[in-house]
Amino acid sequence: MGSTPTIGVLALQGDVREHRAALGAAGAHTIALRRESELDRVDGVVIPGGESTTMSRLLQVFDLLEPLRDRLRDGLPAFGSCAGMILLASEVLDTRPDAEHLDALDITVRRNAFGRQVDSFETDLEVLGIDDGPVRAVFIRAPWVEKVGAGVEVLAAVPDGPAAGRVVAVRQGVVMATSFHPEVTGDLRVHRMFVDAVRKAG
Ligand code: GLN
Repeated sequence: MGSTPTIGVLALQGDVREHRAALGAAGAHTIALRRESELDRVDGVVIPGGESTTMSRLLQVFDLLEPLRDRLRDGLPAFGSCAGMILLASEVLDTRPDAEHLDALDITVRRNAFGRQVDSFETDLEVLGIDDGPVRAVFIRAPWVEKVGAGVEVLAAVPDGPAAGRVVAVRQGVVMATSFHPEVTGDLRVHRMFVDAVRKAG
């Protein structure tokens, strides 16, 4: 991999292009990941924002669900934003009964958790591990993390307002997830953090 890791962005649905641009700018080579064989070429994977139940269905249609789950179990670094967080979780509340997830993070997430009044909003967040100022966080019908397992670090929580204290960024080993969309703001620090983690893991 050298200093330029290859990161596969799951390209079934969602904001794939934005993640590839951010990862490229953060020093990674990216591929659009759609086939099982492509899993062998990647040092890490990103699951974009979009619609988690649609992505769940497409993971099954493309025969990727089990292969991706296996690679994650074997330690493939991963980052998921929003719908990507939902897919990486071990338990999902308020989803469809037939929706699948990848069990890569020991967290319980609630879909569309912020409710109708505030279902999309922006705020400045302190993120653990990012010391040079807050991150502008864009939430779009986002989930929050309702429960974290023992091995999970909380990286960020909502500072104020009706959802104050809600956990919106987590990491467990080489797997991280945000309820918000760092790929849409031009601030590369969350993507850099992930690319660094992928380099270290390799
Ligand atoms: N509400 C979406 C879902 O449940 C996630 C929204 C997003 O990724 N912006 O999948």
